[in-house]
Amino acid sequence: MQLALTEDELAFRDELRAFFRDEIPADIRNRARHMAELSKDDIVTTQRILHAHGLAVPNWPVEWGGRDWTPIQRHIWHDEMQLASVPEPLTFNANMIGPVIAQFGSQEMKQRFLPATANLDIWWCQGFSEPDAGSDLASLRTVAVRDGDEYVINGQKTWTTAAQSADWMFCLARTDPDAPKKQAGISMLLFPLDSPGVTVRPIELIDGGFEVNEVFLENVRVPADQLVGAENQGWTYAKFLLGNERTGIAAVGQTKVRLWLAKEYAKQTRLDTGTLLDDPVFAARIAELENELLALEIVQMRVVAGSADGAPNPVSSILKLRGTELQQAVTELFVDIAGPESLAAEADTADWARRSTATYLNYRKTSIYGGSNEVQRSIIASTILGL
Ligand SMILES: Cc1cc2nc3c(=O)[nH]c(=O)nc-3n(C[C@H](O)[C@H](O)[C@H](O)COP(=O)(O)OP(=O)(O)OC[C@H]3O[C@@H](n4cnc5c(N)ncnc54)[C@H](O)[C@@H]3O)c2cc1C
Repeated sequence: MQLALTEDELAFRDELRAFFRDEIPADIRNRARHMAELSKDDIVTTQRILHAHGLAVPNWPVEWGGRDWTPIQRHIWHDEMQLASVPEPLTFNANMIGPVIAQFGSQEMKQRFLPATANLDIWWCQGFSEPDAGSDLASLRTVAVRDGDEYVINGQKTWTTAAQSADWMFCLARTDPDAPKKQAGISMLLFPLDSPGVTVRPIELIDGGFEVNEVFLENVRVPADQLVGAENQGWTYAKFLLGNERTGIAAVGQTKVRLWLAKEYAKQTRLDTGTLLDDPVFAARIAELENELLALEIVQMRVVAGSADGAPNPVSSILKLRGTELQQAVTELFVDIAGPESLAAEADTADWARRSTATYLNYRKTSIYGGSNEVQRSIIASTILGL
């Protein structure tokens, strides 16, 4: 196992670094860097530039826009994108439904959806979770009943991220209520959100933002050729998809940028004795976070270096767990640096300070989505520690 980059990998990194700096609009990167809200247009514009240069979906098969990169090259691409604060390709498209269609869809389905998915001409949302089916996803109760050459869907999805911006949903629904195991009777269906019978209702989050929704499905008719793969095989496709979801969720590059920003803000914060960054207790806290992040980065490099066969690695659960804990720790750091200004509404309060409390609250989500951290601990206990 080689953790240092080779000459070729360093050249590859420098090329990407220059591309992200020169080709992705600075105003978009600046908004992302300072955790301001990105518009749909920011995300679409970025993904289309990336895709035009073969940099949106490198994880896909080459014939559909992927790159024949090594795992290390893919890691460098992802890390550099985060370090440059480039909004990442929409995960629902690039990491979720795209790879599923490429792997399990018919040739017609691939031709119909993959080019538009890579270029973000279709914005997808993920219709998996339901009011009583989150961690225990296989308990989902939304049903799809075959009627001639259509399916008729009834049920409710919840926590559907960005459904308000989305064009299509990939949805899990029960097609065989009598299957011997609840996992066995589930299918994956694709439909546009403007289909008759679909109602999207926003959910306000703790930070006052509206990024998730409830989606009600009432007699939604879906042509049978929008079934992914085979009927009742949806659980296999969902597991494949959820394995990809955890890829990159550690966000090491992004946390590095935020720690760097935290130090800049601390340097601008005056105390009687100097700046906040000179305060030994504060400096020790920063050093501890930097060490934790370095340890995480090394684990990530080891996972990447050892994953050439593409098999899922249970260590990705550690990356998810520690990565999200560190993301949350840094948002807490911003609130502490801002102090009372984190609650201020005055016009002369710095934007980052005013946003810090909302960001801190918003980031509580990271330990819930992508498989809650409690569930990751169980995976680590059973598959890594053998408990
Ligand atoms: C911001 C946000 C965005 C999301 N976006 C989407 C989306 O776009 N599409 C989508 O389909 N879903 C989405 N989700 C849903 C997400 O996948 C679920 O919230 C998650 O799977 C947890 O399910 P739950 O909310 O039903 O909680 P529950 O499963 O009810 O869990 C409640 C608590 O119990 C714990 N728990 C549950 N089971 C176990 C266990 N076996 N062992 C130990 N502890 C356990 C959990 O860790 C949690 O703390 C999103 C969630 C959030 C917060």
